[in-house]
Amino acid sequence: MQVASVIDTLRTLVGFDTVSVNSNIALIDWVANRLADHGIRATVQHADEEGKANLFATIGPDDRGGLMLSGHSDVVPVVGQSWHTDPFQLTEIDGSLYGRGSADMKGFIACVIEMVPRFIAARPRTPVHIALSYDEETSMRGMRQLVAHLASAPTRPAACIIGEPTSMRVVVANKGAAGYRVRVGGHSVHSSLRDSGVSAVEVAARIIVQCQAMQARLRESGRHDGFEFPHTSVHVGRIQGGTAHNITAKDCEFMLEIRALPGITAVELIDDLRRWCEAEVLPGMRAIAPDCFIEFDQIFDTPPLDERGNTYLAQAIMPLCGHGQVGRVSFGTEAGILQGVGVPTIVCGPGRIAVAHQPDEHVEIEQLDRCLRLLDTLASRLDTDALLRPA
Ligand SMILES: [Zn+2]
Repeated sequence: MQVASVIDTLRTLVGFDTVSVNSNIALIDWVANRLADHGIRATVQHADEEGKANLFATIGPDDRGGLMLSGHSDVVPVVGQSWHTDPFQLTEIDGSLYGRGSADMKGFIACVIEMVPRFIAARPRTPVHIALSYDEETSMRGMRQLVAHLASAPTRPAACIIGEPTSMRVVVANKGAAGYRVRVGGHSVHSSLRDSGVSAVEVAARIIVQCQAMQARLRESGRHDGFEFPHTSVHVGRIQGGTAHNITAKDCEFMLEIRALPGITAVELIDDLRRWCEAEVLPGMRAIAPDCFIEFDQIFDTPPLDERGNTYLAQAIMPLCGHGQVGRVSFGTEAGILQGVGVPTIVCGPGRIAVAHQPDEHVEIEQLDRCLRLLDTLASRLDTDALLRPA
């Protein structure tokens, strides 16, 4: 397996500007054509909105579940970043390949595409599925749509590897991530009469202090040392409210983010906070002005990847990767969505997460080589080893 041809494929993939606000159709069509050249018919699953599509293809028999190799086709923006190379033109410098998406995660996709002839030649009784999703970097809607399709399909993958950049380490768990917009409606009066008004800014501040108390409780109540921050995190990243120093604020809103350890759901924590607001805060506000309110709108919710669902798969893949230990990461992936429909999933791919989303993102050629070797080994073992246990 020649790494040179992988680099050519990666050059083409990076050349498609698939920043999430843009269409990914040109990339999907190009991959579908590459697969067609090898006699593989891909299903292109279009989104409701124009310009977005997933791709799903199966090599081998389609009457049973196989190993799914999954990647997202979109990338994060380059706006405001200072790059030393053209981010959409792959540039090789000192054994590394620079370009947006080179690590996250077109390098993995290039490796998978290059391995297609190898998978076909292996004539696997256990099929290999190739999945490409859209909008992973924003809403993860692509994978949700793909999973809805898989959930009703006669067979679904028996296992999945998502090739996010993990330096080719097997990642067995990631935290969930949920975001909420909290809106506070107060009552506006001249600030000299403050007690006849309700300051939405001050109410928001009380709620945020309560969020910090929640964080303190979470620090005490449980930890998972596999994660760099070993607790569920609660974080307020943005706040906006009020109009002037001498008017009690009518409106205030802030963004609350929860990154939950596997086993904890953000919804439960938000429900606690909501109940506290209803018992401790709202009555006082409404005694002054009945139309005061506190609202929680969920903006996104990505489930965690829980290692209880993939132990067997991780133990089978780990010896093939050259890393003696599994990893756990705090960034969100699509893995928890797949696990949610009963597909055991791990995350393992070339490149370092530290350079993902950054200017001068790059992947080491050595990492692509290691990824190719893993895929080559998988191709040779799909039938002989029991790598896959039926889901
Ligand atoms: Zn990614």
